[in-house]
Amino acid sequence: MTDPHSARPHAVVLIPGDGIGPEVIDAARRSIDATGVHVRWIEHAAGANAAEKFGKTLPDDTLDAVRKHGVALKGPCGTPIGGGHKSVNVAMRQALNLYAAVRPVRTIDGIKTRYDNVELVIVRENTEGLYSGIEHEVVPGVVEALKIVTEKACLRIAEYAFRYAREHQRKKVTVFHKANIMKMTDGLFLNCAHAVHEHYPDIEFGALIIDNGCMQLVKDPSRFDVLLLDNLYGDIISDLCAGLVGGLGVVPGANIGAEVAVFESVHGSAPDIAGKGIANPLAAIMSGVMLLNYLGETKAAERIKAAYNVMLASGDPALRTKDIGGTASTGSFTQALFDRITKGGPHAA
Ligand code: NAD
Repeated sequence: MTDPHSARPHAVVLIPGDGIGPEVIDAARRSIDATGVHVRWIEHAAGANAAEKFGKTLPDDTLDAVRKHGVALKGPCGTPIGGGHKSVNVAMRQALNLYAAVRPVRTIDGIKTRYDNVELVIVRENTEGLYSGIEHEVVPGVVEALKIVTEKACLRIAEYAFRYAREHQRKKVTVFHKANIMKMTDGLFLNCAHAVHEHYPDIEFGALIIDNGCMQLVKDPSRFDVLLLDNLYGDIISDLCAGLVGGLGVVPGANIGAEVAVFESVHGSAPDIAGKGIANPLAAIMSGVMLLNYLGETKAAERIKAAYNVMLASGDPALRTKDIGGTASTGSFTQALFDRITKGGPHAA
């Protein structure tokens, strides 16, 4: 076996973000370091904290570092509602062309919900649609947002979803759309999915009008496999699906581009609990597991996953945070996980 300490380090950009970001990102970083995989963390700022320090929510240095090193672990960044600055998250995905958001949502043994056997993956178009950020006032009292949809981006995300399905032994890709109303924009998204499906006869294809899709998801999420969604629908359905498996504390994500990948939880900066030491760091830790897999460090990824799976399956409230029915703080959960990964401490197997 190769000694992970002697291997060339992976350079990974670390963006703590706002609110609970620094707390959960620190937990993810500690979990990865506990495996012994040699990562050189290169910290950069983004979000409201960056605006305070550098006068910009998304400093050029941060973007340049992600471009240079090709991979980042990112905490959530807050965006003011109504006025104020543009979303850092949307801007970063557009600037780095991180066109596919990949969000696995699964039932976790030991986390009680209304559903069993949820095992789906959201593939969200990440660069255009209503999140293009083009809004203006037509005349006082009338405002307009442009939903930009291009054939190129639709084909690219559909291709990603079907390829993902094939590579991960998934059986079906389902598109949610509103092409009955938005005939051109959602129509193009749907038609592109149909066209790409022709090259993937081994994968089943389904399409549902999104309102019906939401009802079906809540009724029986186990019937869904890969969900292919545009930017806005993907954002909303991600939180809905998180609610099926225990909440935002347990759903990780990756933003994938041609040359760059940024790993981040689905959840936001959670200002209501920031600084209280009660945030669930699992979503960030799971995003770190996705990052390790992306780097080819599959054994380390498995070690972290096995450690938290055992902790959750134990049902011990001291080994889970409040949002999923436990009593652990962010810190005590992270320490218990760290001990288990390193197999030296009181919670080790
Ligand atoms: P949120 O995801 O931050 O929080 C929603 C609810 O879930 C809150 O009650 C929160 O306490 C809870 N929650 C979220 N993560 C949790 C965790 N790890 N552990 C325990 N509970 C958790 O959504 P919001 O409150 O609507 O948004 C807050 C800010 O985050 C906004 O400024 C929004 O724009 C931003 N945001 C950023 C991202 C991102 O950076 N990718 C994603 C979503 C929202």
